[in-house]
Amino acid sequence: MKRIDLHVHTTASDGTCTPEEVVRLALDEGLAAIAVTDHDTADGYAQASAAAAGTALEVVPGIEISTRYFGSVHILGYFIDPQSDELRPVLDWVVRDRDERNRKMAALMAADGLPVSYEQMHERFGAVVGRPHFARVLCELGLADSIQDAFDRYVEKGRKYYIGRQFLPIERSVEIIRLAGGVPVLAHPFQYRLEEAQLRELIEHCMDYGLRGMECRYSGYSEEQSAYLLTLAKEYGLLPTGGSDFHGANKPHIRLGRGTGGLSVPLEVLEGLREEAGHGSL
Ligand code: AMP
Ligand code: ZN
Ligand code: FE
Ligand code: FE
Repeated sequence: MKRIDLHVHTTASDGTCTPEEVVRLALDEGLAAIAVTDHDTADGYAQASAAAAGTALEVVPGIEISTRYFGSVHILGYFIDPQSDELRPVLDWVVRDRDERNRKMAALMAADGLPVSYEQMHERFGAVVGRPHFARVLCELGLADSIQDAFDRYVEKGRKYYIGRQFLPIERSVEIIRLAGGVPVLAHPFQYRLEEAQLRELIEHCMDYGLRGMECRYSGYSEEQSAYLLTLAKEYGLLPTGGSDFHGANKPHIRLGRGTGGLSVPLEVLEGLREEAGHGSL
């Protein structure tokens, strides 16, 4: 069976592997396709696509947008046009807001005497800087043992260096992915710790704005959990997608294409998405 991974982060956001390194890992793993789904940017796609040219690996342009509904909810978009005129100003807004937050976080650290500055963070990590980057720097400074430890002590909500940021409304996130020619998909549904009734409300609300798929296979989800999500997706007529949420060293327990071990996403999933993207307009 040909396998794929439709949830992959690169150095364009908070992954630690460059797009080229991700492509190399995917080829080593024998994957037929990957989707580059960085937070709030599609900038990693061009490099990944170029690196995969002439190989058997297909690279799908994607994105992951953070929103709020009950709590934090992530929406994935597949086959978006990375150059879309609709998408660009919206992502620019998100990144500008991130930047304001990042300035404040860096200033809090600097006020404690830590050698951290907003400029250095951007110089080193690029346009989309997030809390995992700060966590990494805190580890390097000897203040934490791991990214997780740095989150727990310093950058998780309520901790001393945490500053919140704004989120694109969930309705707008789904819509903008469609306007960019993409297929909107609800990411990792169990991450939100919702009761079934709330999950259904979330799904139905997103479907009102054009949601077309749900991530049913994901790192750490058991067979039973995936079977439950697959049944739910079928009931709603949503495409069942899957991916690892690979972040390189920022989530060291997750392996590309394999998740925490048992992940297996068949190539057929991609064909459904491709067909849906072809029908794509609102
Ligand atoms: P940001 O969007 O910059 O606020 O950072 C959020 C990102 O940090 C999420 O998308 C996760 O990838 C990561 N993250 C959030 N909480 C944790 C945690 N407790 N441990 C490790 N990574 C986390
Ligand atoms: Zn991330
Ligand atoms: Fe996510
Ligand atoms: Fe992700």
